[in-house]
Amino acid sequence: MIRDYSHYINGEWVAAANGTTFATVDPATEEVIGLVARGTAVDINEAVTAARAAFEGVWWQTKPKERARLLFDLARAIEAAADTLAELETRDSGKPLPLSKKEVLSTARYFEFYAGAADKFYGDSIPLGPDYVDFTLREPMGVTAHIVPWNMPLNMVGRSVAPALAMGNTAVVKPAEQTPLTALKLAELMEQVGLPAGVYNVVTGFGQEAGAPLAEHPDIDSITFTGSVPTGRRIMQAAAKHIKPVVLELGGKSPHIIFADADLETAVVEASKGIFANCGQICSAGSRLVIDGRVKEAFLDKLIQRAQQIRVGPGLESPDMGPLVSREQYERVLNYIRVGQNEGAQLLTGGGRPDHLERGYFVAPTLFDNVSPQATIAQEEIFGPVLSVLTFHDEEEALAIANGVQYGLVAGIFTNDLNRALRLATRIRAGQIYVNEYFAGGEETPFGGYKQSGFGREKGIDALYNYTQVKNVAIRLR
Ligand code: ADP
Repeated sequence: MIRDYSHYINGEWVAAANGTTFATVDPATEEVIGLVARGTAVDINEAVTAARAAFEGVWWQTKPKERARLLFDLARAIEAAADTLAELETRDSGKPLPLSKKEVLSTARYFEFYAGAADKFYGDSIPLGPDYVDFTLREPMGVTAHIVPWNMPLNMVGRSVAPALAMGNTAVVKPAEQTPLTALKLAELMEQVGLPAGVYNVVTGFGQEAGAPLAEHPDIDSITFTGSVPTGRRIMQAAAKHIKPVVLELGGKSPHIIFADADLETAVVEASKGIFANCGQICSAGSRLVIDGRVKEAFLDKLIQRAQQIRVGPGLESPDMGPLVSREQYERVLNYIRVGQNEGAQLLTGGGRPDHLERGYFVAPTLFDNVSPQATIAQEEIFGPVLSVLTFHDEEEALAIANGVQYGLVAGIFTNDLNRALRLATRIRAGQIYVNEYFAGGEETPFGGYKQSGFGREKGIDALYNYTQVKNVAIRLR
C-alpha cells in the first residue's frame, strides 16, 4: 500500500506549496512505500516563520519544568509506540527490526535525558568584588535547523531536537529524502502529548531543494547537520551567509586497534559489530581493523567465520544485517569493493550480493586483508559492510596508522594493558575512544569529531551548549 505523506508545519499536515511529491522506497524490496511532499524554499519559509512565532510567543515563555514534563511525556509516548515506529523505520531504511527498536528506545531516552536537564542547566555568578553583581543567563538560540541523514533517521532527530526543545528552542527538521517517515510519525506523538503548534516542524524533500534553503534562511539561529563532508562544507558556506553557528558531525574512518594481549574472543565479536552493525552505515563504524601482526592470522580466521555466519535479509525478518539504504548507496559500496581489488587488497570474504537474495540492496559482510594505509579503502569512508585490515608491529606504528586519515571521529582500543590504552587514548586524535568495547557509551556521552569529522559535540550535557547562548549581566552597585 502506497501512502501519502505531508509536511508538518505549525501543527498542520500540509502538502508541498507546489503540490509535488517524491517516492520513498523499501530497500529490501525496491518497492515504493510512500509519496512524500517535495519541499522547496516556500515550504521552508513557512516552517521557519511558524517556528519563530512559536518560539517568541509560546515555547520560550513556557516554564522549564513544564517543558520538561511535556518532553518526559513524549519519551513515554515514543516507548509506547516503539513497535509501530520500529516497523516504519525498518520499511523505510532497511535496518533489522530489533535494531530499529533499539534506536527508537534510544530516541525516547534522548527526550528523557534532556527533559531532565531542562530545569537544571544553570548560569554562573562571577566574582568582581563587593561593588558588582555579575551573572550569566543561558538563553535559547531561537529557531534551530536540523538537517538529518538516513542512517539512523529517527534517532538523529531525537539526538538534536531533544536538547534544542529542552532549552526552549523551536525546531525545523529536514529529514533525509531516503528516510523521511519516522520524523513525521514523531510529529503525531508530539501532538498527542500536547506540544504547542510550531515547536516542531518537519519539511521533507531533497538536499538542494529543501535542505539548502533551510541552511541559508536568514531567520534561523543555528544549524545542526550530520552527513557527508562535501555536504557539510556546503552547509557551512550557507551558514556563513547570515553568520549562523553550525554543528557538523561528518564522516569517519575509525580505527579498531587490536593488541596481541587483548581478549581476542571478545575483540572478534566487537570488531564484527563495529563494522557490520546497521550494514556499516554508521559514521563511527570501526571500518579499519588495525591489528598486531603476531595475532592477525588467528584473529582473521575467527572473524571470517563470524562474518560468514551473519544472516543477511529483509529487515522485517529480523536478520543480523539488512540491505543498504538505497540503490545509490549500493552502487557506491560495490564500487569501493572493485577499487579495493584493483588496488591489490586481498578479498577474504563477501564482495557482493549474497547468493540467496535476488533483489534489494544487499551486500554480504566483506573483509579485505593486506590493505596499505594509503589505499582508497583505508582512507575513504565507504559506509557499507566493508572492513579493511591493516597490520602493525609496534605501538608507534599502530598510532601512526590510526591518526593517518583526514577523519577523527572515534577509535577502539583492545588491550589488557591499561597504561597502553591510556597512552593511546591521549594520543589518538578523535572525539571518542572506546576501550575493550566498541560503541561503548550512550546518550549521556559527548560525541563528535576531530579534524574533518566535524566540530561541536552532540549527546550528553555538552549538546546543551549548542542550543543555548550565554548572556552576561554586569551590575554596578551604588
Ligand atoms: P548522502 O550523500 O549520503 O545522502 P548527505 O550528507 O548529502 O549524505 O545528506 C545528509 C542530509 O543533508 C540529507 O538530509 C540531505 O538531503 C541533506 N543535504 C544534501 N545536500 C544538501 C545541501 N546542499 N544543503 C542542505 N542540505 C543538504
